[in-house]
Amino acid sequence: MPDVSSRIASIHSRMAKAATKAKRKPNSVKLIAVSKLQPPTSVEEAIKSGQKAFGENRVQEAEEKFAPLREKHPHLELHLIGHLQTNKALSAVKLFDVIQTLDREDLAVGLAKAIKKTGRAPQLYIEVNLGREEQKAGIYPEELENFIYECREKHGLEISGLMCIPPIEEDPIPHFTKLKELADKHRLHNISMGMSADFEEAISCGATEIRIGTAIFGERAR
Ligand SMILES: *Cc1c(COP(=O)(O)O)cnc(C)c1O
Repeated sequence: MPDVSSRIASIHSRMAKAATKAKRKPNSVKLIAVSKLQPPTSVEEAIKSGQKAFGENRVQEAEEKFAPLREKHPHLELHLIGHLQTNKALSAVKLFDVIQTLDREDLAVGLAKAIKKTGRAPQLYIEVNLGREEQKAGIYPEELENFIYECREKHGLEISGLMCIPPIEEDPIPHFTKLKELADKHRLHNISMGMSADFEEAISCGATEIRIGTAIFGERAR
């Protein structure tokens, strides 16, 4: 098993360096440890070294892994960073503190219903498809303004951030810069961008949270 705690320490020092270089405060960026396809023992190891925020791609996997972990560690903060089916909106609202992948109106409707029913209101980020990739989820940049309006006015949802996954084969910096611009324009404070391969660039462009999987836990099982 990789040494999770020393990898986390090394990520923190690289985050601090990138922040300082960008004239930002080192504590202005949050580390989300992406634990999809990783066993609970690896998550436990991360928790031991002070890690609090975790990202998962699938509702069911996250439920199975984190329900028992949360009994021991009630302070954990859970982020959904993968595609959410509308019929799982209720489970997602019950489980997650942040849902980063709001990307279409029928999901907005489902989330609004689930929030009403449970009285729980996770923070919601909109996923933006900056590369305009057809196979990828996310709202196109030119549709964002209208989508935010509809989420707020029609569905009563509070939107607090944006997230993106730039096209893998492209320079991420123009995409990160664009997401930061869009977030500023709409006064959204949470900017989720940057993964193992490009988080320093994301921090230099204004990321407030980065999502790191393999650089913490090593390669995933599948
Ligand atoms: C898997 C995943 C990550 C983490 O990717 P790594 O390259 O392993 O750091 C980040 N964000 C999303 C949306 C993911 O699906």
